[in-house]
Amino acid sequence: MTHTQLAKRVAYWCGKLHLDPWKITTSIVEDPHHARENGRTVAASVRTAADYLKAEIEFAQDWVDANPSDDERDQTIVHELLHCLFRDLDNSALSVSDALGAVAESFFEERYRHELEQLIDRLAWTIVQIHGN
Ligand SMILES: [Zn+2]
Repeated sequence: MTHTQLAKRVAYWCGKLHLDPWKITTSIVEDPHHARENGRTVAASVRTAADYLKAEIEFAQDWVDANPSDDERDQTIVHELLHCLFRDLDNSALSVSDALGAVAESFFEERYRHELEQLIDRLAWTIVQIHGN
């Protein structure tokens, strides 16, 4: 899978998810946004701009080299794009956490991020089943 093929697939899913107003850039890197988890490289990671409709998706070189199936590739892309759609909800939820004490804030953020990842994974899977081709 080349970067061009990945970028085309990102553009396809941006259309399906009505993310056309967003400017989304992509790249393939060794360690996406330094997002290693337990020493393992994640497949991809996205960073969204605070205010503008801009995001940067970094795909892991290891993941690209492993040649994921079409479904896995699309679920990864849709997962990262859904983070863009959830950005404002995330920001509002996490801004409330600033008002909590340190212990409650940490608990809330950990729980929130866990639940968000589960929901986004489920939505990504469902969307790919419906719209993938
Ligand atoms: Zn995620």
